[in-house]
Amino acid sequence: MKYIDVILPLPLEGTFTYAVSDELAARVAMGVRVLVPLGKSKVYTAMCTGLPHDSTNGLSQEKVKFVIAVLDDSPMLLPQQMRLWQWMSAYYLAPLGDIFKAALPSGLKREEGYRPKMETCVGLAEPFRNSRALRIAFDSMARAVKQQKALACFLGLTNWESLDGDKPTATIREITKEELANESHCTAAIIKALCDRKILYTYEREVGRLNEGGSCHPELIKPLTEPQQDAYNQVLLQMMKKNVVLLHGVTSSGKTELYIHLIEKALNEHKQVLYLLPEIALTVQITSRLQRVFGNRLGIYHSKYSDAERVEIWRKQLSTDPYDVILGARSAVFLPYQNLGLVIIDEEHESNFKQQDPSPRYHARSTAIVMAQMFGAKTILGTATPSMESYYNAQTGKYGLVELKTRYQGIQLPEIRVVNIKDLRRRKMMSGPFSPTLLAAMREALSNNKQVILFQNRRGFAPMIECRVCGWVPKCKNCDVSLTYHKRLNLLTCHYCGFTYTVPSSCPNCDNPNISGRGYGTEKIEDLLSDIFPEARVARMDLDTTRTRNAYERLIGDFSRGKTNVLVGTQMISKGLDFENVAVVGILDADSMLNYPDFRAYEHAFMMMSQVSGRAGRKGKRGLVILQTKSPELPVIQQVVHNNFHDFYNDLLEERKMFHYPPFHHLTYVFLKHRQEPVVEAAAQEMGAKLRQLFGDRVLGPDKPSVARVKALSIRKIVVKLEIGVNLQSVRDRLRQVQQQMMQQPYYKSLQIYYDVDPV
Ligand SMILES: [Zn+2]
Ligand SMILES: [Zn+2]
Repeated sequence: MKYIDVILPLPLEGTFTYAVSDELAARVAMGVRVLVPLGKSKVYTAMCTGLPHDSTNGLSQEKVKFVIAVLDDSPMLLPQQMRLWQWMSAYYLAPLGDIFKAALPSGLKREEGYRPKMETCVGLAEPFRNSRALRIAFDSMARAVKQQKALACFLGLTNWESLDGDKPTATIREITKEELANESHCTAAIIKALCDRKILYTYEREVGRLNEGGSCHPELIKPLTEPQQDAYNQVLLQMMKKNVVLLHGVTSSGKTELYIHLIEKALNEHKQVLYLLPEIALTVQITSRLQRVFGNRLGIYHSKYSDAERVEIWRKQLSTDPYDVILGARSAVFLPYQNLGLVIIDEEHESNFKQQDPSPRYHARSTAIVMAQMFGAKTILGTATPSMESYYNAQTGKYGLVELKTRYQGIQLPEIRVVNIKDLRRRKMMSGPFSPTLLAAMREALSNNKQVILFQNRRGFAPMIECRVCGWVPKCKNCDVSLTYHKRLNLLTCHYCGFTYTVPSSCPNCDNPNISGRGYGTEKIEDLLSDIFPEARVARMDLDTTRTRNAYERLIGDFSRGKTNVLVGTQMISKGLDFENVAVVGILDADSMLNYPDFRAYEHAFMMMSQVSGRAGRKGKRGLVILQTKSPELPVIQQVVHNNFHDFYNDLLEERKMFHYPPFHHLTYVFLKHRQEPVVEAAAQEMGAKLRQLFGDRVLGPDKPSVARVKALSIRKIVVKLEIGVNLQSVRDRLRQVQQQMMQQPYYKSLQIYYDVDPV
């Protein structure tokens, strides 16, 4: 008998030991999935971490349970992936089981979850595969005209009508039952009747879900412009010296074309490429461009793909014929790569690369860089507004830096006009959230058949409703937040736990029926616009309208084809989408971003405003951005107006240095959660004190986070700030030790402790 170590798909640290019979042991290897029992009745698909061995790892032999089955003949996981999982687990203080859960498509975590997609096809029965027999068949159906028609149609579509005696003179084509029914306009009953006569028969065929995107067309790669070519050469030069190169290129400078040239080069060297994007919406635009060039050598992978599709891509990447280029959102870092040569991280500044919930709370940018280094591959980070961390790394020589300052085809940067809405509000000159300047600019654009983008960083109708008499605001019973009002659904929803409530007809506090909205969400703006511009076709893009993959594609498609005139959206629209005909961009409320209680508020606000401004203006005409704010005097507003990234960066860097924030310090948030407020408070105080003993004044808190209760759990937060150069691994080991000490106390049973490393 032998033993193996496995990872279970559960939030549990480390690996678990199981016994295997000699017969099964022969089939076990690293990356092979096995079925194992846990507890009294549970069975899990677990991942084997190595070859069978003789050690029970300290367990008594009777206690070790047996592997039920070995599920794979060859590994589903490559050695580099296992190394990456281990790195992620250690760096992000996340249990290996959480990484396993996040990495594998769920179809690979169930025993029989994966089912190939099948189609029913229709074939011509053997005895009728000659012209004489077919003629007899038609005669026999003299009174069944519909069956005759269907059969004739079938013979035409499949080329069986080309029979010369018993030899078809054209290639016989397969046809699905559905296709036949559609083409011959007959019902399933007619096809069944033909099968009952034993003239036709049906059979099942497995169909692939993968991109059959045709062949590769390198001739479609556009030649680079002179500034692009310069940047490209510099990137290659820098890559000879550095593993990571930051490409700082203004919006519309043609970074995508540059990436395409880099991909072609990697493919010529028989290397694989991973192209990461922060947002699925972006993959929609870039997919078609890349697919035209790279055809079926391109695979797409993100969470909006069905599980079955993701399983197929996973298996293909393990095969002898994997995709050479993978385009995907952050989860694409989990795919198996056999020969990675280049990683492209586009819009590298985006906080969407960080997974917030659930665990593992990993940053796909850092993870991809680590993975690239495991393969000896190079990484290029591209953006118009670099993250503080990446720019600092470039400034200090850790990364290479290439700047691309010329916009493609000489498109000018937009003019940004700042409008002081505090002043206008006082003078009662605002129409809801719109200043007269913005409305005039919109009117002009729309009358010239141009398009408008409006950016509001909140979804929903009004962020909240409020009693006009007593000021009562509805709150979520599970979370410490006010509810968002959605007019179309006439519901109040909690954006933290998803719980929905009906809107009360009068105030539960004072019975006053006058309850109304406060503030403006995207849905309300959409509504107001249809009053002000009744002719305009308005679309809204936010989390509520883009729940499915098709919804994204439709919204973007309609806007780029000009079917809609105004696009209202949350931060989603700021992410590098390219439209040809946008004359005006309105930033409705800059202050909501600037006042956000987080040390990254200015960084995010600057990036969002710069990015969304970059959507204005295309060939020929300079775009206009109307930036509405109550605080036009803030330096950050002027820095956005003048596209002055360097001043912005230097100001912020000073501040970060002074207050011990990244890039000068590593941040780790420790979160504690419990149903009972006193328990979590006591636990947080105790843990804070223990950590302070170890790390001194590097520990801040515990504090109540701005949302201190979510899903009926009270939350506390401790911040650990570590100077660069500290041995992070030993710090993390000690964090885990303290956590274990805490969890051993019965009073803290069901306390949850988790970490957010490098929060964004
Ligand atoms: Zn009231
Ligand atoms: Zn809630």
